[in-house]
Amino acid sequence: MSWFEEALYVRTCGYRQGFLVEREVARLKTEFQEMAIFESPFFGRVLALDGIVQTTERDEFVYHEMMAHVPLLAHGGARDVLIIGGGDGGVLREVLRHPVERATLVEIDGGVVDFCRRHMPGLSAGAFDDPRTELLIVDGIRYVAETTRRFDLIIIDSTDPVGPGEGLFTDAFYADCKTHLNPGGLIVTQSGVPFFQPDELRTTVRRLRPLFADVACYLIAVPTYVGGLMALGWGSDDPALRGVGEEVLAERQRAAGIATRYYAPAVHRAAFRLPPFVAELLA
Ligand code: SAM
Repeated sequence: MSWFEEALYVRTCGYRQGFLVEREVARLKTEFQEMAIFESPFFGRVLALDGIVQTTERDEFVYHEMMAHVPLLAHGGARDVLIIGGGDGGVLREVLRHPVERATLVEIDGGVVDFCRRHMPGLSAGAFDDPRTELLIVDGIRYVAETTRRFDLIIIDSTDPVGPGEGLFTDAFYADCKTHLNPGGLIVTQSGVPFFQPDELRTTVRRLRPLFADVACYLIAVPTYVGGLMALGWGSDDPALRGVGEEVLAERQRAAGIATRYYAPAVHRAAFRLPPFVAELLA
């Protein structure tokens, strides 16, 4: 047995997390990144990209449920959804539990899709075979710059702003996303762990503000994204979407027949209540 040590915060915070590795399942280097999947006793299979933990079998439900169900149940009528990144298929799986007509997943690295389908099939759970899925292996930045399509919801399920994910945090990219939203549409972004990465949230909010009437974030607790709370950014021109009440959310969840382990209407509402140290980043 050995240890996998995630060094994401070693340089900035002098802190690291470690997983006991029972066995390495697979490793692959693509032109974009180095992928590894290993088996750990408590978290099950763990996916790391360039040494940074992306998801684990044990806690993936938190991130994937909250990335998909919060915006979809708030919107209530999304038919066309765009996911940028997310090649593991976890967000796609949750999006497809809603009555959407099409879910387009734009992932820069086809290796991630193949690798996860093969070695962590529970993440996508058949989502790539769903007839509503459109999988495009292309840079998401280029896709939103060139497509003529419009979406009800755009989910940015990115890596951190290093390597191929860097451009997914820029003004130009967010502006392109905005032009491809239908009226009443919204965007949700992976905006890091505010305790360790305050600039990720601060910058995202600063960039979304000129584009959307209502910019906010909501918080989720994913055990392996160390640092306590992860922020998901939110941009929409309709402030009412953020105010949808628990009863309506519960009714929509019931109607769609979606059973969840982390998402709940009360959790949805509470996730937008921010501790002052996070609220300050949005000020
Ligand atoms: N869903 C996961 C989680 O639980 O956090 C992890 C995020 S997912 C693996 C992030 C994906 O974004 C990676 O597969 C990466 O290849 C993809 N990505 C990075 N930059 C991209 C870009 N410019 N366009 C499209 N996809 C990109």
